[in-house]
Amino acid sequence: MADLFEGATGIIDEALAHADVSADTVERLKHPRSALSVSIPVRMDDGSLRTFQGYRVRYNDVRGPAKGGIRYHQDVTLDEVQTLAFWMTIKCAVVDLPYGGGKGGVTVDPKALSMSELERLSRGFIDGIADAIGPDVDVPAPDVYTNAMIMGWMMDQYSIIKRHRVPDVITGKPIALGGSLGRDTATADGGFFVTETLAPKVLDTGGRRTAAVQGFGNAGMVMAELLHAAGYTVVAVSDSQGGVHTEEGLHIPSVAKVKRESRALKGVYCEGSVCEAVDHDVISNDELLALDVDLLVPAALENAITIDTVDDVKARMIVELANGPITPEADAALFERGVVVVPDVLANAGGVTVSYFEWVQNRQGFAWTAEEVRTRLESRMTTEARRLWDFATERDISLRVAAYAQALSRIGEAVDATGHAETFQSAG
Ligand code: GLU
Repeated sequence: MADLFEGATGIIDEALAHADVSADTVERLKHPRSALSVSIPVRMDDGSLRTFQGYRVRYNDVRGPAKGGIRYHQDVTLDEVQTLAFWMTIKCAVVDLPYGGGKGGVTVDPKALSMSELERLSRGFIDGIADAIGPDVDVPAPDVYTNAMIMGWMMDQYSIIKRHRVPDVITGKPIALGGSLGRDTATADGGFFVTETLAPKVLDTGGRRTAAVQGFGNAGMVMAELLHAAGYTVVAVSDSQGGVHTEEGLHIPSVAKVKRESRALKGVYCEGSVCEAVDHDVISNDELLALDVDLLVPAALENAITIDTVDDVKARMIVELANGPITPEADAALFERGVVVVPDVLANAGGVTVSYFEWVQNRQGFAWTAEEVRTRLESRMTTEARRLWDFATERDISLRVAAYAQALSRIGEAVDATGHAETFQSAG
């Protein structure tokens, strides 16, 4: 165990050189506060009983309640959930939310379950972790392969357990159950605002800017739509089944329409759709990552670009909409080559930022307009993107190291507010 986690926390030492924090802060950040492992018995539609494995890690809550999504995927492990919870701790500090970091996951292929089985699994998971979450303790949200309806079931189940309605226990809910306008597109919106802020500093392509998006789920699809609408030529997109590519650019609204209807990208160009007139190649995910584009957006899972594939990457700018798509070794190689990587802890922080807005609205009992949500999101994302850019350029470090240094300083302030080793040593 601990491969991903060890790799992920390694950057703390590098960032330390650029943040003035106590040893206590580093100590606090190297260990999760709690890691809960639960088994979830689920009655299947055929009458049989199956048990699924679930996890919830509260990594850190120094700056506020832990915050982070719940992922459903067949490859979920405790090591992965713990790493994602660590990244959430950093992410929430990077965009200055009053939260720590947490994450949950269930080892399951959700596509293999019926709707009723999925609902029983989701409610069963909440039964298992109810004592470890709460509006002031740890607030879950959607992540890979979970969505608003699932968050609705989970909020309802938690409310049943507590015997009163608790909308602020979870974010990313359906609007009718206390969700926020703009939460569904927030991850991509945030990534787009950051891209718009930083691309002019990185890409001096004058007219045409090309982009490729790996992963066509909630984040990747909306990001592709936004880039297309902003005038980027999106030459390729892919999902877990593979991708499509054409140098003249894909008509993203049509691809998205068919994807929303058919739910699989391979149906988009290859099985008689609105787009099949366009001449295109069918490509693999690895081929997409190696395309010669200005902007590459990995928006799927961890470890998309590794030390074995990094030499093939030709993009000039990479915006990490997924969590952890580039391994630490590959990241170092990209920095060496001058490729600008906008790290996940900034690039995809739009999701948790609007989750925070949703939590605030739930606590106020008052719903904001879509415009208010968008304006506040844009302001926060562009402010933090500019701040990190200036810091990174000043010190000639990567945006990732700058983001971790920024997060360390903010977390460090909270840790030291209750005293650190020197405070107690000098007090005798
Ligand atoms: N799962 C998303 C992330 O990785 C959102 C988390 C949240 O909204 O709490 O940032």
